[in-house]
Amino acid sequence: MPKGRCLFLLLVVIATVSAQQSLTLHFDGNSWWSVVKFLADDSLQGRETGSEGLRKAQAFAVEQFEKAGLESAGSKGFYQSVRFRQYRIDESKSSLDLGYGSETKHLSFLNDAYFSPRLTRISAAVSAPLVFVGYGLRIPEKNLDELAGLDLNGKIAVYLSGSPSDIPTALAAHYQTVAERWKALHDLGAIGFITIPNPASMDLPWSRMSANHNQPAMDLADPEFNETPGLDVGIVFNPASAEILFAGSGHTFADLAALAKDRKPLPHFGLETSVQAAAFVESKNITSDNVIAKLPGSDPSLKNEFVVLSAHIDHIGIGAPINGDNIYNGAMDNASGSALVLDMAADLKAHPETLKRSVLFVLFTAEEKGLLGAKYFNAHPTVPQKSMVADINVDMFLPIAPLKVLRVQGLADSDLGDRTSSVAKALGVKAVPDPEPLRNLFIRSDQYYFIPRHSFCHHGRFLRAQLARTKAFQRLAYRALPRALG
Ligand SMILES: [Zn+2]
Repeated sequence: MPKGRCLFLLLVVIATVSAQQSLTLHFDGNSWWSVVKFLADDSLQGRETGSEGLRKAQAFAVEQFEKAGLESAGSKGFYQSVRFRQYRIDESKSSLDLGYGSETKHLSFLNDAYFSPRLTRISAAVSAPLVFVGYGLRIPEKNLDELAGLDLNGKIAVYLSGSPSDIPTALAAHYQTVAERWKALHDLGAIGFITIPNPASMDLPWSRMSANHNQPAMDLADPEFNETPGLDVGIVFNPASAEILFAGSGHTFADLAALAKDRKPLPHFGLETSVQAAAFVESKNITSDNVIAKLPGSDPSLKNEFVVLSAHIDHIGIGAPINGDNIYNGAMDNASGSALVLDMAADLKAHPETLKRSVLFVLFTAEEKGLLGAKYFNAHPTVPQKSMVADINVDMFLPIAPLKVLRVQGLADSDLGDRTSSVAKALGVKAVPDPEPLRNLFIRSDQYYFIPRHSFCHHGRFLRAQLARTKAFQRLAYRALPRALG
């Protein structure tokens, strides 16, 4: 899309929002809660991608869309079928060892480090020296190249997740995706990487990560989506064990972690240690669907544009028991958001009077596998790509207390942020910027794939404008906003 047109569309979208506009709210929470209860019931077994439980949840969603009178907008009725490949590491046939001088330390998959099944896809046996690459980032927009001058040929790069504080968080998040990281490392001949979670920003303690580390991973099956060509092994290392990686290097992990905690620049240097990795990988094919419905707008020309309301309906299925319960019900993540989309669809259909644009309701599959349903949809959208002028994505909507504060990612990055603030203000809610930039939330739900790939090239204004299409509205869990946008 040409730059000018994109900016124009943005202005049109936001021009309909006014703080003085009277906003009618219909939400009483009862229908929403009944849907959450259905989707999060034990009988749906945690809605794992490809499972019977998720198929039941999706059939229920289709039923709700039909009952509400929405039109189907998938490739086969309400459904868009997506093909996946599942990968699992057979740890009984795999091993990880760390070499230092003449010594070898055997690593425990549970306590020290494990193969990421998402990043280790073909059985492989490698022995390679290690290089510490800091955060491992190459960000041309900010003239940052942590890989400059390093010899990575045939080696495994070790990095600490995070970014220096002078990099805007959305940009840093983008360059921390596997695709972007691997592009830079692969260019320099690396054959794998070890990621050390930043102890200052871990979402889950190692014990929780490790408990489910050997769950199978998935990726889109079509070769067009392979983002890691040439990657032999991807390894996740426990920060509590990471000190041994740095033996003899003149640096300690404790010092590096202290710098990373404050988002300071990190040094880059060859390590004295090497890794011997033997990974045995099993894989198989899986199919699962996105569910898509639409509500046409009333304006003769604007109805050709879509505001997308999206949420993922999958969760992580069955896993290691917590207090004896092995079903991960996913009520908050993201039965709550799916129920909200269904509720808004019914409500907007019943009260369509202010909708000028059309609305597309999308329930994604495989978000928990790496936003894969959204990635597929945006590569093969069921409406013209350029007709989608905004995406409002809801993930982990939890209305258990009166809404007073709304977290908006990228609030300060565009004038959409100002409009968001004024709509929120009209409802007595304060919009605040992302208070936890290290968690990379911007790239961690389905809104991310609505940003066209080419917008991350060097056109500063275009980048900002495109970012604004989604991030300013992420987690805007209002029904008022889509109404105002329509
Ligand atoms: Zn989620």
